[in-house]
Parts: sequence; C-alpha cells; structure tokens
Amino acid sequence: MANTTLFQGKSMIRLYRHDLPDGLDLGKLVAIDTETMGLNPHRDRLCLVQLSSGDGNAHLVQLIPESLGGQGYAAPNLKRLLTDPEVTKLFHFARFDCAALYRWLGVRTTPVACTKVAAKLVRTFTDRHGLKDLLAQLVGQDVSKQQQSSDWGAPELTVDQQNYAASDVLYLHALWARLEALLIREGRLALAQDVFRFLPARGELDLLGYDDPDILSH
Ligand code: MN
Repeated sequence: MANTTLFQGKSMIRLYRHDLPDGLDLGKLVAIDTETMGLNPHRDRLCLVQLSSGDGNAHLVQLIPESLGGQGYAAPNLKRLLTDPEVTKLFHFARFDCAALYRWLGVRTTPVACTKVAAKLVRTFTDRHGLKDLLAQLVGQDVSKQQQSSDWGAPELTVDQQNYAASDVLYLHALWARLEALLIREGRLALAQDVFRFLPARGELDLLGYDDPDILSH
C-alpha cells in the first residue's frame, strides 16, 4: 500500500499511510477533520485524519490497526503538529475531533479554533450550523455528505471517500474568514477565543463521561 495522489479539478488529494510525511509545512492555521468508525470515541477507532493548509490541496493520513499500540497510533509527525503551540488547528466541531484525537493518538490537540462554535455565536437567527449549510450559505460551495457514514476502516478508501474526506477540510479556511469577520462585527471574537481554549478540555470531559449530564449543568 503506497501513498497515492488524486487530482480532482484544481485540488490535489494526497493519501498517506500511518503518518504525515517528514518536513511537510502546512502553515500557522491548519484545517483538520477526522473520520472514525462511529460516534462513540471510546469504542470507534480513528481511521483518517484530513488536513489542509488552505491552498486548495488536502492531505489524508490513514491510520491502520496494525500500528495501534497501548499509547494509541504511532504517528509522530501528526502528533507534533497537533500539539505545536505555534499552529492553530481549525475544525468544524472541534469538541468531537479533540476527543477522538486524544483517545486514539494520546495527545491534547491545542490551540484550536472551531467554525461550528463561531457560527453559533454569530448566526443566532438559525439553528442550522452543519458544515454543508454553512459552506453553501457563507462560501457558496456545495459539498456532498453522501460518504459521511461509509466504512472508514476499509484498507483501501474509494475515490468517493477520499473526495468527501478532503471536502471537509478544503473550504474551512474560507469559512473561517467569513465567520471571523462576523465575530468581529458582532463583538464576540474574544468570547469565541475563550471558548476555543476550553474545547480540548471539553473533549476530554466527554471521554470521562461528563457529557450527559453535562458537567456545567445544575
Ligand atoms: Mn468529516
């Protein structure tokens, strides 16, 4: 199983096994998403981590059960990026991704930003904060969610799966630019940043069972 490259319109999608390659610089703001076997981070293993620097290209790291040890997957380059204090990791729903990354890689992902939290803080006129809706309305980008519930543990990911996985990170920078402007307009950027600082801990609280009832509820 070698690394592969897929050309899709103007985008290049690189698929790696086990880890990011040495020496890959994705800049100071990296869009990241994860695909797992399901929604229970304790049970459902992390299968894929998608990354983009915002340049229109996506890097997919496929995590293989054989490299899963007691400390989680061995993926030193990926772990270095996730914990690099100089690189902000941009997610849509960071709470879940931080929990999955903590559970399966053993690292606290920080610092982070989250487009879902940002959208909730400024788009108070709607309860539709899914990535598909936000990309359509704020970026004018149509993305398919058809592969969302496919088998991400398959040893060979299909072209459709790779395209879907890439589309979850390719437009996050553009979305964040729109949302950051709205946060500034509404005077909520500082509040958003405070919430972002809490999100890695929020993910760990979820793993400890403090999601329901929520630790902050009465
Ligand atoms: Mn995704």
